[in-house]
Amino acid sequence: MSLKLDQSIDDALKLVNDHSGQGYFEALVTSLARLIQADYVLIGKIDLENHTAHSLALWCDGETSSHLSYPLEETPCDQVFSGGTCIYPRDIAELFPKDKMLADFGLQGYVGRSLKNHNGEPIGLLVALFKQPDVASENILSIFDLFAIRASVELERAQWESKLQEQIELLKTKNQQLDLSHTIFEHTNEGILLTDHLNNIITVNAAFEKLSGYSKTELIGKNPNILSSGLQSEQFYTELWGTLLKTGTWQGELWNRRKDGSTYPIWSSLSEVKNSQGVTTHFIASVKDTLVEKELQEQLYHQATHDYLTGLSNRFEFHQHAQKAVAQANRNQEHYALLRINIDNLNLVNASYGHETGDLLVQTIGQRLNQCLSRENDLLSRLGGDEFALLIGFKSNTNLQKHLKKISALFRQKIQTKENVFSPSCSVGISILGEDAHDLDTLLRNADKALRYAKENVRGSYSFYSTDFDQKVRRQDVLQDQLFHAIAKNQIEPYFQPIINLVDGSLSHCEALARWQDERLGRVAPDEFIPIAETTGLIQQLGKQIFSKATKAIHELNQKIDNPIGVTINRSPFEFSINEKTSYAEYSLNGLNSDQVSIEVTENLMIDSPNHAKRHLSLLKKQGFTLALDDFGTGYSSLSYLKLYPFDYLKVDQSFIRDMQPESDDFVLVKTIIQMAKNLGLKTIAEGIETEEQRLILIQLGCDYGQGYLFSKPIPKDEFEAFALKYVPA
Ligand code: C2E
Ligand code: MG
Ligand code: MG
Repeated sequence: MSLKLDQSIDDALKLVNDHSGQGYFEALVTSLARLIQADYVLIGKIDLENHTAHSLALWCDGETSSHLSYPLEETPCDQVFSGGTCIYPRDIAELFPKDKMLADFGLQGYVGRSLKNHNGEPIGLLVALFKQPDVASENILSIFDLFAIRASVELERAQWESKLQEQIELLKTKNQQLDLSHTIFEHTNEGILLTDHLNNIITVNAAFEKLSGYSKTELIGKNPNILSSGLQSEQFYTELWGTLLKTGTWQGELWNRRKDGSTYPIWSSLSEVKNSQGVTTHFIASVKDTLVEKELQEQLYHQATHDYLTGLSNRFEFHQHAQKAVAQANRNQEHYALLRINIDNLNLVNASYGHETGDLLVQTIGQRLNQCLSRENDLLSRLGGDEFALLIGFKSNTNLQKHLKKISALFRQKIQTKENVFSPSCSVGISILGEDAHDLDTLLRNADKALRYAKENVRGSYSFYSTDFDQKVRRQDVLQDQLFHAIAKNQIEPYFQPIINLVDGSLSHCEALARWQDERLGRVAPDEFIPIAETTGLIQQLGKQIFSKATKAIHELNQKIDNPIGVTINRSPFEFSINEKTSYAEYSLNGLNSDQVSIEVTENLMIDSPNHAKRHLSLLKKQGFTLALDDFGTGYSSLSYLKLYPFDYLKVDQSFIRDMQPESDDFVLVKTIIQMAKNLGLKTIAEGIETEEQRLILIQLGCDYGQGYLFSKPIPKDEFEAFALKYVPA
């Protein structure tokens, strides 16, 4: 070889060496083609399975070209592949007529060499093709070989690199899967323990550490029997292993022991792990704390059978146990009393102080009643809202009385809340097993009748069932039903009773009094239906209806008379809701001015909730209403009410007026009340004036206004209008 050629080969190889990967092969075919003046040069790798060559780099008519694949069968390359090196100086297309490409490209000469790996195995081929005959000669073979060696090395290197890359990708995927498995392993709620084939612990997850109280490091290498509670027999474990080794799995409940010595039940699933040869390599235990599940179940059962507020049995639970207790008592002729206990005015407490205070009251009463349970079969339940049921056994009547005394004493103890002190009061209805009833339902029903009687007649005390109650209770039920309909149909009407200025005899204003004429029950007195409206919550609606009708009637009347009058309207403490915004603002004045309307409340409002009353009364005052304290003298009649609240009128109860004779006790009392009121700047209204004598005495005592049958009974709107139109002061 000439020096010049040597130099060219060196330069060409250097150029090739400057490249790597695909660039290397392209540089190689380009340099080789130029050196040996070939028209085509190709480096291919062999796909043994399909007996096909895939080009890695192809020099084609002066430039590198896109890759191609071609089957080796009956091509000169096939010979190269099996024989090593081939040279065909000319007529190659004729020699291999089935290789259409040779003829298509008009090729004459061919040089090919197989590329082998370091083990001598063929991995590819290097081929040069010539359009001119005889260029492919022995002369170029040494150059060709130099390039072929380099191509072999690079091809083998590229193959290794690609295999390595595949391995790396495989490892990456495996690692990702392992990471995922590890995350699941560590984060699952189930405890997992993994042992080797000899049952030595290899690892546990965090849930297992938590469950057992042992750390992973304390457990690794140990036999899982360090967790056993000793509560299962040898036999149990023999059967467990028998099943596990025979079937590959075992499931069941067993007790384990924590590090701190406490035992706990678990639900365990054991699996045997075998390799591809069927040899046991590991055991896996996955365990669940069944205590948590059991506790959850118990918790749910407790919630379904107990009252959330007091923790006492609810109605359902009480029934279940009371049925059994009653059956047993009937069999053994034991004495039992059923008490239905109702907290008086809980509605009012809720409305005045909010439900938190009401709840506290219920809870405290519940706790106190709990202290009354002395015998095993005694039962206590909160039946609902403000009502409890107590089933207690007793030996004799004296013994029962003792129980009742104890209960009454417990009720009387005051209850202190953050802001107030309450004197709770409960009404109790009692029915006796064997005397009043033989089964639970009748016992409950009769105790309920006795309770209603107690509430109506002896509030704050107890009452035993009597057969007379049946009739009373029936009326009460009918009343409640009818009242609901009457209010829904807006059938209750205000009647009006005049209030006379005692000084000049003029008609000053009138009191609106609710009247209900029921089609079934006839006329029902407000003293009977107002308390029902209060306890059923209907009072709010009734109050609005009366207010609206009364203001409308008086506004219409005022259009017809010279001296307009005012109207005074009763308002129950139950109408003063906790929400201060709902006041008379939402009631319709129907054209009257608010200063023509006076609101009457009784002392109960202040006794039950002094601060609440103050806020509401001040609000009404701000809205322009005048305020009257009704029935003064019947309750606590403390001066402090008068000083603390913004009243304008004080209504002296009719019970003082009725028997008032000059210098009688009542006379002195009324005189003192009027005097006291004057000192406080209040006007007085005497209720229930029936005689001329009473009127004259009251004038003499300086009473400002009077109301009573002497002037007129409460009368319907039209009659009152007629009364007012023709009224002339006496
Ligand atoms: P009250 O507010 O003290 O009303 C006066 C009661 O005395 C009325 O009884 C009236 O008819 C009666 N009365 C008036 N003058 C005489 C008399 O000279 N002799 C006798 N013996 N009685 C007289 P009524 O209408 O039966 O009302 C009873 C109570 O019912 C009222 O007492 C009041 O507390 C309540 N009430 C009546 N209407 C309403 C109402 O619309 N809302 C509320 N919350 N309570 C009402
Ligand atoms: Mg009144
Ligand atoms: Mg009154």
